Amino acid sequence: MSEDKLPSRTEDFAEWYNQLVLKAELADYAPVRGCMVVRPYGWALWENIQAALDKRFKATGHVNAAFPLFIPMSFLEREKAHVEGFSPELAIVTIGGGEKLEEPLVVRPTSETVIGYMYSKWIQSYRDLPVLINQWGNVVRWELRTKLFLRTLEFYWQEGHTAHATEQEAREETMRMLGVYADFAINEGAVPVIQGVKSENEKFAGAVQSTSIEAMMGDTRALQAGTSHFLGQNFAKVFNIQYLDTNNTLQYVWTTSWGLSTRFVGAIIMTHGDDQGLILPPRLAPIQIVLIPIYKNDAERSAVMPVVERIKAELVEFRLKVDNRTEVTPGFKFNDWEMRGVPLRIEVGPKDVEKGMVVLARRDRPGREGKSFAPQAGIAAAVADLLTDIQKSLLARATAFREGHIFDPKAYAELTEVVQNGWAYSYWCESAECETKVKEDTKASTRCIPLGQEEGHGKCIVCGQDANRKVYFSRAY
Ligand SMILES: [Zn+2]
Repeated sequence: MSEDKLPSRTEDFAEWYNQLVLKAELADYAPVRGCMVVRPYGWALWENIQAALDKRFKATGHVNAAFPLFIPMSFLEREKAHVEGFSPELAIVTIGGGEKLEEPLVVRPTSETVIGYMYSKWIQSYRDLPVLINQWGNVVRWELRTKLFLRTLEFYWQEGHTAHATEQEAREETMRMLGVYADFAINEGAVPVIQGVKSENEKFAGAVQSTSIEAMMGDTRALQAGTSHFLGQNFAKVFNIQYLDTNNTLQYVWTTSWGLSTRFVGAIIMTHGDDQGLILPPRLAPIQIVLIPIYKNDAERSAVMPVVERIKAELVEFRLKVDNRTEVTPGFKFNDWEMRGVPLRIEVGPKDVEKGMVVLARRDRPGREGKSFAPQAGIAAAVADLLTDIQKSLLARATAFREGHIFDPKAYAELTEVVQNGWAYSYWCESAECETKVKEDTKASTRCIPLGQEEGHGKCIVCGQDANRKVYFSRAY
């Protein structure tokens, strides 16, 4: 707890982010380089993300299970693209119980292989399909450049793994879960996202097709906030996941996988935060309302506290905290909770008690503009309306920011400029050469070919060849 000012978000976005994560007590650095400790406030935010997603997974027919952290090395080697993609990032255990292991064990970077192995045992007949399992857990990827929440050696996530009788069903599942992620991001996180298909270069190692939701952060960089993969029969073939169809013929299943991680906490911070600190969307905020009693002496205290207690009781349906610390001033408390992003503050002082009113201060509109007065009677309804409005305003603001930073460059030279402070939305011939050239010249990668774009025809912004689809180019986290 300190009153040191954060670096300015516009002047040094990276440092603003790093210091804010620490100062708001969301996470801390672990003794092992690149690992993170998620602190209770950060974990509470993650728990709310989990709850919102888990509800959606169950509503779409999925169940949860838990698979092991260790995977035999040979499992990863079975799928060529998969092992090539993950090899540089693997943590491998070679000694267990003091003995050298016969086969090294990989600490899971993702679980397609071990789950595929189990599915080959569990799936025999078309009656066993579809299998719709999700797991909440952690994975390890030995990243060289790390950043709290965005890229750490170990992170928390969910990974859904499904098996289907037909290609069409598996493709539908891939898109359904992409839609679930988009719905969650937009309606719970107030993070506007674009759903689309990843390029061949950017797709998941072992997938036939990868899709993602892409969000624009406050510095205009893109963040891939969730992915959903159609795996075809790649894992079914190497793990021999087969079933007898209705004609008693042996068939390989079609599989999907999809994941969303603690990266999303980073997305929330970087989408909504300002120079004062975090701004958390009410639907996910660990604390939605902070209630601050204001008094100068015992007489005022005895007038104010019963009202505070009554308001607290009336607001039981909200995640509310009464800050009754006596060692710090109300002004300190205001700054502290603003920095921690609590969406709404209620102040109750002696004058408010006399008038039967409270002061409401919304976090998304700092200063006078965000302050209003409300009668103590009917406070629950007023607060509910205000939180709904804050949620909506955050989404509208982030959407307007994104739209203001998406450009339609007319020539390649212009593309190289606009991606320095925004995204380019351009026709692309879908060749790896053009994609690589953009990356080498500008550090911008293709983010996704958005779904539902109008049938069109144009020239590749890089090479001028005919192109049918547009892609987003942007620097990314
Ligand atoms: Zn091209």
